Amino acid sequence: METMAAWEVAAPGPIATRPLRAVRRPVPVPAADELLVRVRACAVCRTDLHVAEGDLPPHRSPVIPGHQVVGEVTAHGDAVTGWAVGDRAGIAWLRHTDGTCVYCRRGQENLCPASRYTGWDADGGYAEYTVVPADYAYRLPDGYDDVHLAPLLCAGIIGYRALRRAELPAGGTLGIYGFGSSAHLTAQVALAQGATVYVMTRSAAARELGLSLGATWAGGADEQPPAPLDAAILFAPVGDLVPPALSALDRGGTLAVAGIHLSDIPVLNYERHLFQERQLRSVAANTRDDGREFLALAAAHPLSVTVTPYPLDRADDALADLAADRVEGAAVLIPRC
Ligand SMILES: [Zn+2]
Ligand SMILES: [Zn+2]
Repeated sequence: METMAAWEVAAPGPIATRPLRAVRRPVPVPAADELLVRVRACAVCRTDLHVAEGDLPPHRSPVIPGHQVVGEVTAHGDAVTGWAVGDRAGIAWLRHTDGTCVYCRRGQENLCPASRYTGWDADGGYAEYTVVPADYAYRLPDGYDDVHLAPLLCAGIIGYRALRRAELPAGGTLGIYGFGSSAHLTAQVALAQGATVYVMTRSAAARELGLSLGATWAGGADEQPPAPLDAAILFAPVGDLVPPALSALDRGGTLAVAGIHLSDIPVLNYERHLFQERQLRSVAANTRDDGREFLALAAAHPLSVTVTPYPLDRADDALADLAADRVEGAAVLIPRC
């Protein structure tokens, strides 16, 4: 039986306890509706950290994390049409919905109660091979190499949905709280749409990156931006930042919380934080249409993707560096070939 290198989480725990374990696993066999993909790059997402540390309850144990995969189709099941061996494919977080529930039928498949996710409900891309249902794989734009494409598959797509949920008006001001992988891509999309962008983050290197990409101003994590915000996105998984972000909003402004996990939000004051029709919104994954729209946008407006590559056999270091804010842009795992 052919085997492959992989990392799995069997017992989630604090990253200092090294919850990722290097293993050898059989190369998966694609089901009738699946592609087998040889992984060429897998970007690391903060959600992987939540899976490893147990902030997200285990859905499968052990599980191979990783849901921002760029790879090459090396085989597929009999029922697959439209994909061929040798195609470049992208694998993202959402990998199953029922297509029949009230949410799916009204275009909100991201809210489907039967949804399943790569690297949480099914094994993901911290490995040399992985499988994906063909209907949930993405065609990828030209003009990017594998390593620079990988972060687009969650950081890019979810950031794009968060930007839409924040309802940034044309030519408006956008505040971005936390400036990692997703934020640095979302900022570029907003800037391309004519926004003025302010960056709030504790990392000096991330503030520099924000300014170099075209942000007008960058300050500390809970610093008051120099002008009222029409829209804001909270990328940092820090509930303590919700009150300062809400009070930075202009009348009618919207704050979207991009992450799947957030520490507790402190008590809000209605007058200071919500009145004058300020809105606080969550963002739940994405629809496949969000993904296709964002990838089309990335094809039309080349994005500058900042990556920190790691060999696959240093996945545990990559996660530890992400936890400690030591990664600029996106960490990307690269299997040996
Ligand atoms: Zn559904
Ligand atoms: Zn993600």
